[in-house]
Amino acid sequence: MFDALRVAIDGAVVQPGDPDYDQARKPALAQFHDVKPQAVVRATGAGDVAETIAFARRSQLRLTPRSGGHCFSGRSSTTGIVLDVAPMHEVVVDGDTATVGAGTRLQQLYADLWRHGRTLNIGCGQTVGIAGLTLGGGLGLLGRTYGLTCDRLLGAEVVLADGRIVDTDDDPDLFWALRGAGGGQFGVVTQLLGLRKSRLEQMVNHGTGWVRMEYRVPARGLIGFRTEFLTETRGTGLLHHVFDGYEPWAGDLRTRPTGSLVADRRGPVTAYALFNLQERGTLFVEPGTEVYEGMIVGENARSDDMDVNPTREKKLTNVRSSTGDELVRLIPHRQLSLEQALEFCREDECVEVTPAAVRLRKVSLNAQDREKLRARSRR
Ligand SMILES: Cc1cc2nc3c(=O)[nH]c(=O)nc-3n(C[C@H](O)[C@H](O)[C@H](O)COP(=O)(O)OP(=O)(O)OC[C@H]3O[C@@H](n4cnc5c(N)ncnc54)[C@H](O)[C@@H]3O)c2cc1C
Repeated sequence: MFDALRVAIDGAVVQPGDPDYDQARKPALAQFHDVKPQAVVRATGAGDVAETIAFARRSQLRLTPRSGGHCFSGRSSTTGIVLDVAPMHEVVVDGDTATVGAGTRLQQLYADLWRHGRTLNIGCGQTVGIAGLTLGGGLGLLGRTYGLTCDRLLGAEVVLADGRIVDTDDDPDLFWALRGAGGGQFGVVTQLLGLRKSRLEQMVNHGTGWVRMEYRVPARGLIGFRTEFLTETRGTGLLHHVFDGYEPWAGDLRTRPTGSLVADRRGPVTAYALFNLQERGTLFVEPGTEVYEGMIVGENARSDDMDVNPTREKKLTNVRSSTGDELVRLIPHRQLSLEQALEFCREDECVEVTPAAVRLRKVSLNAQDREKLRARSRR
């Protein structure tokens, strides 16, 4: 299937079965190591990127770019095609200006700039990629004095979704979008609202670091939005909404790309079980919490649900060992507020509110019943 792409590009196409597949597919963060793409394309230039986008469109495969693979929410991982721009890491310094390949890692960039007696306000993560860092704003030690990384961006070559390669000198709107407009938060806001079936009606860039955006959003898309909006804009965003009118059903909302970790039995949660589960995603329960079959105990890093046993206890033996009872170190669990819980819910999940607790659960508590429903919906 990928033969046509292999011929069309200068870079490499790595597929399952190839010796370097495992190394090529894994991003920097271990919680997304389970995601297995159909192919990882190592692009060597804008031409390769355009060819890969065209191929993905023809084959109707999901495609995601990857620069350093440090995305905390796993956005550079997919089961489709990972477009890895790491081979594009050339750095050319000309006076006070540097032209930097999209796949350059911060460690290399610091070193290359240093040779010319220059530096940039880029972050501290040595293997973070410059593209992901700049698109997210880019915080560095010199930020208070010199601003964000994106504030130093002078221009870029961008491959659009239709395969056109454009220079931002010819497209000022695109340039400001890459600069993050509202202090690096602009892209985050459009992405969040895009998932909520919203329509951007008007946008005014005041050129002062503030952007005003007017959206039409289904009311159900606003449930839980405020918290996420404030988190993603690091508290700098201002949000106001008013009722506008009734419109036809906009379709299902899927604001969460991840699945749920669901308890498969009743009982008190143990630290031993949580220790083994914490690498699967974010946990919502702590040791001692009483759970029941069908209760959601965490967010799975993968897109599907997983039945887990959070009550598992360590088997006792008669053999004593000095390393046997090591201290169990747990990542603090995430306590969801009512609004966050409502937002987390998918259509087959619901929130249980009691005076003492806010819990999440599957509508159908029995694991076998849920599996039957899943199989039926797949047909
Ligand atoms: C250990 C560590 C240290 C960090 N330190 C800092 C820090 O000091 N300062 C700071 O600001 N941030 C820091 N971060 C956060 C980091 O900047 C972001 O997670 C950033 O998005 C990572 O970029 P990346 O290219 O490495 O990740 P990736 O996972 O490759 O990409 C991140 C996002 O950008 C998209 N993307 C990547 N390349 C392209 C491209 N060429 N074109 C279009 N889209 C692209 C991806 O699809 C994904 O959505 C750190 C993260 C980690 C894990």
